[in-house]
Amino acid sequence: MDAPVSTGRAIGLGEKSVRGKLVVGNWKMHGSLAQNDALLADLRAGWGAPSGRKLAVCVPFPYLWQAQAALSGSKIAWGAQNVSEHAGGAFTGEVSATMIAEFGCTYAIVGHSERRTLYGESDKAVGAKAVLAMDAGLTPVVCVGETLVDRDLGSTEAVVLRQLEAVLAQLGERVAKAVLAYEPVWAIGTGRNATPEQAQEVHGLLRRRLDAAGADVALLYGGSVKASNAQGLFEMPDIDGGLIGGASLKADEFLAIATA
Ligand code: PEP
Repeated sequence: MDAPVSTGRAIGLGEKSVRGKLVVGNWKMHGSLAQNDALLADLRAGWGAPSGRKLAVCVPFPYLWQAQAALSGSKIAWGAQNVSEHAGGAFTGEVSATMIAEFGCTYAIVGHSERRTLYGESDKAVGAKAVLAMDAGLTPVVCVGETLVDRDLGSTEAVVLRQLEAVLAQLGERVAKAVLAYEPVWAIGTGRNATPEQAQEVHGLLRRRLDAAGADVALLYGGSVKASNAQGLFEMPDIDGGLIGGASLKADEFLAIATA
């Protein structure tokens, strides 16, 4: 893999060259009405929206209305953790991007490794989800990342580029309005984060591919990010913020990451 390249690139967020960081929480399948009330209230009260910083939470579908009620008028955005690969129809149990957008969402995570691994989502399906999310006015947070086996085989580059190409093929130049999250599977929920240098190496690779496509995209790192390691990661030139799982469930920790 090439040496890390310092592009000094700014965060995308669908805009061009707005320097800053985006931190997105992924609650996964956690929460209850009472717990969410407390967490959302603490986030709203504690988020000072420092210049160049953006914060969002991606919550389970049944809680979208609650996030909307608690965060409307605040500087915190909200979104979902998945969208259907279908626009609508006889797909029992699925939730469409247009339904999600009705709850005032900004973001939708697509292609999280848990969905790829546990629910068999293909690269093609992830691309379709990204397209439908964008069609509905959402910003897809597209996740890519290699397993430990991939890494040990020296396939990290091939895997993340394959996953990215599938999205590029379907989104085309609209990829410039997406957010990309590099989440090494071996670092998710394991307490074992990539070092800043390991993360930067992959982010640099993704940046070069997106540059070649003419797309200025925010690149988030995800995988066991905590307040104690966020700063080192976020200082890397091609890391524009984080996708945060476990640590997004504690307001103090999540806010500390977002201001790291
Ligand atoms: C995630 O679920 O996207 C994630 C990064 O989880 P964690 O921060 O818990 O590793």
